[in-house]
Amino acid sequence: MAVRVRFAPSPTGFMHLGNARTALFNWLFARHHGGEFILRIEDTDRERHTEEAVEVIYDSLRWLGLNWDGEVVRQSTRLARYHEVAERLIAEGKAYRCTCSREELEAKKEAMMDTANRTCYDRTCRDKAFDSDAGPYVVRLKMPLEGESTFEDMVQGTITKRFDDLDDFIMLRSDGMPTYQFAVVVDDVDMAITHVIRGSDHIDNTHDQLGIYRALGANPPRFGHAPRILGLSKRKGSPSVEYYREALGLLPEGLNNYIARLGWSHGDDEIFTMAQLIEAFDVTGINQANGQFDEEKLIWVNEQQLRLVSLHTLAEHVLPIYARHGVSLDPSDWTFKLLELMRKRAHDLNEIVTDSLFVFRAPETYDEDSVAKHFSAQTPAILGALRTEIEAIQSWDEGTIEAAFQRVAEAHQLKMGKVAQPARVAIVGKAQSPGIYEVVWFVGKAETCRRLAAAEAFVQSR
Ligand code: GLU
Repeated sequence: MAVRVRFAPSPTGFMHLGNARTALFNWLFARHHGGEFILRIEDTDRERHTEEAVEVIYDSLRWLGLNWDGEVVRQSTRLARYHEVAERLIAEGKAYRCTCSREELEAKKEAMMDTANRTCYDRTCRDKAFDSDAGPYVVRLKMPLEGESTFEDMVQGTITKRFDDLDDFIMLRSDGMPTYQFAVVVDDVDMAITHVIRGSDHIDNTHDQLGIYRALGANPPRFGHAPRILGLSKRKGSPSVEYYREALGLLPEGLNNYIARLGWSHGDDEIFTMAQLIEAFDVTGINQANGQFDEEKLIWVNEQQLRLVSLHTLAEHVLPIYARHGVSLDPSDWTFKLLELMRKRAHDLNEIVTDSLFVFRAPETYDEDSVAKHFSAQTPAILGALRTEIEAIQSWDEGTIEAAFQRVAEAHQLKMGKVAQPARVAIVGKAQSPGIYEVVWFVGKAETCRRLAAAEAFVQSR
């Protein structure tokens, strides 16, 4: 049987990390088994959903690299189909129209809470002939009255609920819109979905949904309910893919790797390329216990991925960030060399960019502490000598640059740090940067000399 899974988000305007993980698990499952991963947008709640919110879903999935197969299914285009199925179930006596008013239902609920400490519809209309003059109606499913609903969850094991704990739930609302519980099953049947992997908040819904499968005489897919992610509070904005992408400057490989491990394990392995995730992913590796979100760990995983991905991949993600800082770069060998240097030290993409802006811009000011520590009356003479040495370099490579620094240090009988640190402050604006020979190489001969001269003048003018 070919695997067909789906990711079925509602367009809320952002992609919650829990949803992103559901998408990732389904995608990995499909790719591992050579199956299909379908995207279905649950957009029947028309008032709340905007097209921009749908775009956020596409955009987040594309950024994560979770490509979907075939056409996107939009629930809003399938309303006639839901009605057709509901009519069929009514005709077969498996569903019924309910004309109880909202007020009546409220009153019944209250009475039931008082006596039974639970609420469910009291099934007044279940066996009543439908009166088409009785006003608006909803369509409800006839749940069996006795016995148990049971299913074998791929993650959680056997899950059982008594039918008398289940409601004759609403399939179609009085405005003709399907409820999630109903539409999801009609869609999953029509789309021939074989496995449903989703969050454990849907475990209870599964019993309702199995009621629809039963009424339709359709084989349910296999269900796997992944544990919750705890600790994703509203702190620092919504815990969404967009937030982690923009504010933290993560690589999709970093975020995917982290969220995959948050609820799934493969021995003690922590770091996976996407190809390794596809290879290793298995539903049996999904944990039963809830996962605890840990931003520090996320950043650590992202750091590992920064060093692991190809320079092409890195460039693809980081060049737009350079562009936002007014630096336009091509994916050239020069750029790759710069990224190779910067990624050894950076935690995230934003840092790669901000920590390398010195290459493109001379410092506007010098960091005060660095000035106090590394600039002295002797500095103009040292930087001047260095400038003369650098100007004379014929073949521009790190070896010749290092030799120039060494000659200055020897001539002034100084340790290398006494030359390198003031040079660093002069060129970068502060005493922290990648290796000084690499810094000089990237800044280039003419620009390095200009910056050295500017620092000489700065010290002399003090
Ligand atoms: N729209 C539902 C959600 O986002 C889909 C749940 C399901 O996969 O059945 O939670």
